[in-house]
Amino acid sequence: MGVFEAPSNVTGHEQVVFCQDKESGLKAIIAIYSTALGPALGGTRFYAYANEDDAVYDALDLSKGMAYKNALAGLDLGGGKAVIWGDPATDKSEPLLRAYGRFIETLGGRYITACDVGTYVQDMDVIAKETSFVTGRSSDHGGAGDSSVLTAWGVVCGMRAALQHRFETTSFAGRTVGIAGVGKVGRYLVPHMIEEGAEVVATDIAPQAKKWLAENYPQVTFVDSTQELITSNIDIYAPCALGGALDDDTVAQLRASIVVGSANNQLAHPGVEKLLQDRGILYAPDYLVNSGGVIQVSDEIEGFNFDRAKRRASQIFDITQTILRTADAENVSPAVAADALAERRIADCGRIRTIYLGKN
Ligand code: NAD
Repeated sequence: MGVFEAPSNVTGHEQVVFCQDKESGLKAIIAIYSTALGPALGGTRFYAYANEDDAVYDALDLSKGMAYKNALAGLDLGGGKAVIWGDPATDKSEPLLRAYGRFIETLGGRYITACDVGTYVQDMDVIAKETSFVTGRSSDHGGAGDSSVLTAWGVVCGMRAALQHRFETTSFAGRTVGIAGVGKVGRYLVPHMIEEGAEVVATDIAPQAKKWLAENYPQVTFVDSTQELITSNIDIYAPCALGGALDDDTVAQLRASIVVGSANNQLAHPGVEKLLQDRGILYAPDYLVNSGGVIQVSDEIEGFNFDRAKRRASQIFDITQTILRTADAENVSPAVAADALAERRIADCGRIRTIYLGKN
């Protein structure tokens, strides 16, 4: 697949950069979807793609998603994303990460990286040896640390807004929340839910997640599959594992009347948002409610301040309310309303940059 011939849902990028350093084995693709709102911020995914087409597609798709996410979160940042093609378990090395950092530096700040699947805070510290255009570094290096902290908090804020919209109360009392995926985000979300007074049902395919729950939160009911979770008596479904959690079958069987979770790309295909709407299930768009993580790492650009970042992530409550109300008023799904708001901010705020400043 050539970049210019990419499927229509992932075209329209400003710039796509291919980077190679044969000695270290680096093969990376940096995709910048839009810099209309500012430098393109988005993480680096280190993944063993089956082929180059898959790597290119992922970079194009994810970078577009970041542009929408950053716009809706009210950040003065455009959208970008990078992929490193390789197996992080065997191919990651200091020279490879540093070579990658130097390529980021060549973009002069048009792209700012962060963690994603297969990359961690420690990797950002290594990349930072070669470029200043990196966030998500460790707190030892002035970084924002693990973005899962505010990702989980943002999901709580999104849930509160959905509860308010549906039940006219933000209280979780008497509600049961089903969490699929007790990984980095899920492990912060579980204690939040317990503090909020919710009953929690959870599932995960990893045995260590089940063990962690039993040791730390024995009051959580563990079920053995997502199928069992979605057909349990839950009020809120929180997909916190992989993408594609909401497909035709899941929507048809889901007992919950609200879906709010951290997983990216929850809708398995276009049209699922309509199926949810038709069944009366309130779906808060994933890229809206999981933006706490990018809010956390973007704060690092100013010099990280956790309280400021948390206050900003708390605004996910207000934005979610706005989207849900707009969706009702315009009789569209929240996913459609969210896309429209993000596109409007990119166009409106991006346009003012065309005003000539009289210098250079
Ligand atoms: P993670 O890899 O730490 O956790 C995912 C968990 O899901 C793991 O425990 C895994 O065993 C489990 N899992 C995988 N497949 C499953 C299945 N079929 N059924 C049940 N459990 C399954 O990832 P994470 O950082 O917690 O992220 C979770 C989701 O949230 C991802 O989609 C990620 O892209 C998204 N997200 C994360 C952040 C962040 O800051 N970490 C930010 C935005 C979005």
